[in-house]
This record gives sequence, C-alpha cells and structure tokens, in this order.
Amino acid sequence: MIPFRAAAGITTRRAQRLVRVDRSLPRTVEHPVRTVVVGGGIAGMTAALLLAERGVTVTVLERDDRLGGRLSAWPRTMADGSVQMVGHGFHAFFRQYYNWRNILRRIDPSLSFLRPAEHYPVVSRDWPDEDFGNLPGGPPWSLFALMARSPSLRMSEMREVDGPTSLALLRYSRAETYREFDSMSAAEFLDRLAMPERARSVLFDVFAHSFFNRAAEMSAAEMIMQFHFYFLRNPEGLDFDAPDDDYQSAIWAPLSERLQALGADIRTGAGVDRIEPGWTVTLTGGAQIQADHVVLATDPAAARSIVAASPDLPLSLTTGMKTVETTAPYAVSRFWTDRDVAAHRAAFSGVAREPLLDSVSLFHRVERGSAQWARRTGGAVVELHAYAANADVEAGPAARDMWSQLAGIWPEMGGLRAVDVDSRIGYDAPAFDLGSDATRPSVTTEAEGLFLAGDWVRMPFPCALMERSAASAATAANAVLHRHGVRPVQVFSVPTRGLLAARRR
Ligand SMILES: Cc1cc2nc3c(=O)[nH]c(=O)nc-3n(C[C@H](O)[C@H](O)[C@H](O)COP(=O)(O)OP(=O)(O)OC[C@H]3O[C@@H](n4cnc5c(N)ncnc54)[C@H](O)[C@@H]3O)c2cc1C
Repeated sequence: MIPFRAAAGITTRRAQRLVRVDRSLPRTVEHPVRTVVVGGGIAGMTAALLLAERGVTVTVLERDDRLGGRLSAWPRTMADGSVQMVGHGFHAFFRQYYNWRNILRRIDPSLSFLRPAEHYPVVSRDWPDEDFGNLPGGPPWSLFALMARSPSLRMSEMREVDGPTSLALLRYSRAETYREFDSMSAAEFLDRLAMPERARSVLFDVFAHSFFNRAAEMSAAEMIMQFHFYFLRNPEGLDFDAPDDDYQSAIWAPLSERLQALGADIRTGAGVDRIEPGWTVTLTGGAQIQADHVVLATDPAAARSIVAASPDLPLSLTTGMKTVETTAPYAVSRFWTDRDVAAHRAAFSGVAREPLLDSVSLFHRVERGSAQWARRTGGAVVELHAYAANADVEAGPAARDMWSQLAGIWPEMGGLRAVDVDSRIGYDAPAFDLGSDATRPSVTTEAEGLFLAGDWVRMPFPCALMERSAASAATAANAVLHRHGVRPVQVFSVPTRGLLAARRR
C-alpha cells in the first residue's frame, strides 16, 4: 500500500451552506410518510438514508442483486482460484464532495477509510509527468501555484491564449454561463481558448475526458461548470482520497446496515417497470407498492424508460426525460500481473494524448484485498480506463489497446505478464449534449410527490459525478421533508459563482 498521510479530515468548514435550516421545525415527521426510492446507487441510498433519519418509512428498490450502482463491487473467482472483489472502476473521492462525504461520515465519522492519494500526475509519452496534487491554498492561490509550477503553462506561450474566453472560466455563474455556452461544444470552447498544445492536452483534455463525454458532443457550459467545481473555485484543491477497501466492504455493507437499523426496507433484485401518480410503483413481475412519494434515482437510461412506461405523468416531465441521453461507452480493464510496476508510480494517473487510454489506477497500492493478492504473488493489480470510447468498442480489443498504450508510457509494462484480466464496457454514463440544459429535468418535477436524483439531473449549483448524485438526493430529501413541514438537511457547495463573476444584483 502507498504511504498514505493521516486520514482526510476534510470538513464542511469551507463549504457554502445553501439551505436555511429553521430549527423551530420538527426534526422528524409527525405522522406516517411512505417513500419508495427507485435505485440503490449513491443517489438512491443518500435519499433513503436522509429520509429514514427523519422518520420517513423508506423502501429502496434496486434492480441488481447488489447495491452501489456504478460504485458497486462484487466477488470474482480468479484463474488461481482466489476470490478478488472487482467493480466498475477506480473512483476518486474529491475533497469538495461535501454532501457525499457527509453521508459517508454516518458510517465512519472521521472518514478514516478514505486515504489521501499523495499525487495526481498526468502522464504521456510526449512530455515529462506533471503532478496536480498538493497544490497550496484555495483559489486564486491554487491557480497561481499551478501556473508557477506547471511546465505546460509557460508565460511566453500563454500570451497566445484568448483573454475573453479564458475569463469565461473565471466568471462562472449558473444563469449566464449556461445561457452563453450551453449550445457551444466543449471542443469549440477549447479551440477558442487557443491554449498551447501541451497545456490543452495535459490540463484540459485529460480533465474533460474524465467527464465521460466527448469534447465535440459535450456542452461547453457543463465543462466550464466542472472546471469551476473541480479546480477554479474549489477551496480543497485537486486532491482526492480513495477507500482503503473494496466499495462493498467499505461503503455499501455498513451503509445498508445503518439504513436497516433505521427501519428501511432494502430490496435487491427488485426492478421497477413503472410508476403512477398517487403513487403506485409496479415492479417487474407485477407486484405493486403504494407510497406518498417516489424518488426516482436510477441511471439516466433506466429513468427514461421508467418515465416512458408510466401513464399519467405530466407532459413536461415525459418530454424532458426524452432528451436525457446516455453518452459514449467507457471501457475498464483490470489486470493482475506477475510483477509490480516501478515503485515510484502513483496510485492514480491521468493519461494525455493516447487514442483510448485515459487513466491508470494501481489497486494493490490502494485497496486491502488487492494489496494482499499482490503481496502473496509478487504481482500488481493495474486498472486501465477509457472514458469516452467509440460506439463499437469491444472489451477484449480495448483491454489489449489500453495495455499497449500504457507500455508506450511506462516501459516496464513491456516486461509484465497479465495472469488474469477482467474487462467490461459500460453504457450508463449521462450525456451532457449541446443545449440539453434547457430540457434537462430538475429534482422537483411537475408531478407532485415525484422527485429525481442522480448524476444526470439538472442542478442549480456546481456539482458533478458522485457529488451530483448525493447533492441531488439531498435536495430530493429536502423536497419531501418540506411537504411535511420537517426541518431540512443542510446542502453544501463550493462557492456558487466564479472568482470574477459579476456581483449578483
Ligand atoms: C469507470 C468509472 C469511473 C468513475 N470514476 C469516478 C470518479 O473518479 N469520481 C466520481 O465522482 N465519479 C466517478 N464515476 C461516476 C460515478 O460512479 C457516478 O456518478 C455515480 O456512481 C452515479 O450514482 P447514481 O446513484 O446517480 O447512479 P447509479 O450508480 O447508476 O445507480 C443507479 C441504480 O439504479 C438501479 N436501477 C436501474 N434501473 C432500475 C430499475 N428499473 N429499478 C430499480 N433500480 C434500477 C441501477 O441498478 C443502479 O444501482 C465513475 C464511473 C465509472 C463507471
């Protein structure tokens, strides 16, 4: 395992508080309230937990036979007969994920299971590694420190950068940024920015790729929001942490135990086909459950098909949901190798300028089970990701291509042999197409008692990926609590406006 610093003691001290919490309101519901949560990923489990803590009777319906969605983990029997936990891929738990971390504090108040990654390098065959970890201070100091440190940002070349376009990055505001840039592609925005080639590849393309959308198809407004959220206005810098055990052991087992202790009914293998106002939830097979509220917290494609199959929902919701798309597929391959990579390699690296490969994670330096396997065999557990692959990508060829692309950057890969490999293609990440903000449904819908949560839902403040799932779920829980006159939960954010955004009138 890598020599981690002490556990990440990040709190919400530096976060912006978005909700006025009226302490004169009751903390729990004063009469029985039933809520069905559809989907048992981060969004569903966050909504379920926050509601169950306030006395709401919660039923979680999860289609798969395990909880966690895209963050789930499950056992795999290896060629050597041992059992290793695998999942959809390495996840970086960034420090400004205030809402998601608040949920995780329920299972570990000090978040000691989250271990800081010491470095955040971007690697490529063309340039020396560049480390984005441990940038001092919050904005604007982190930005100045990056400019001073990064060889990609040489002042002589930066003179070419387009001033007005770069100011748009620092002037993020929910209304103006989306009005001005939602119909422009992220690729066009980056072209206009006219960054030197190296800065564009290392600083922009790598981060843009990790949003799972191709720059040519992704809204520039969404990309500007993500730069604001992850770096330009993030008081915590670009540092992140990762669980020291597989996601099932570290997160889902203790979280579901906690939820069950609060009286929630968690059903796996319980897919939902449709919902009817009132609310009746119909499961695959025909069984029905009645509820006062429904939180629809599935992935975007499932939410679209449930809404399409549900009669009597408002037209605004059914037409809005039709525009919620799934983006390009992603490829993930985990290799168990006969020997270790070089000792100085970081636990996680972004990759610049390869046709497919976008990142490398060394699980044997992060997770307990992988570390034990590597100690026993002398090998390594190396996971390779491609975030926005071609539509016809196949798991086997993608694994081979990503391996050989890494070998072009890390020469020692050429001497390693894979003793086992687990590869998959995923089709469930949300698209943020040009102009999609105008029709993207929000947490609250025109259907009274129906709320949406997930990393694809339109949000009024900056958040993305896991944090968008948790933040939208907290917002959905508050909408339910509000209907019953119950005190809301606090919702946190990085500063909602850019450093140079005009003051709000
Ligand atoms: C390879 C990879 C790497 C990633 N890395 C990062 C990272 O580093 N940092 C980060 O912040 N995020 C990362 N993400 C994104 C992150 O995983 C997602 O943003 C987040 O997990 C989404 O959670 P969710 O609850 O919104 O949706 P999901 O996890 O998709 O959960 C939805 C749940 O709904 C269930 N469901 C679907 N249909 C039905 C139905 N009909 N009835 C009942 N249940 C249903 C699904 O089975 C699923 O469990 C990564 C994702 C992948 C795939």
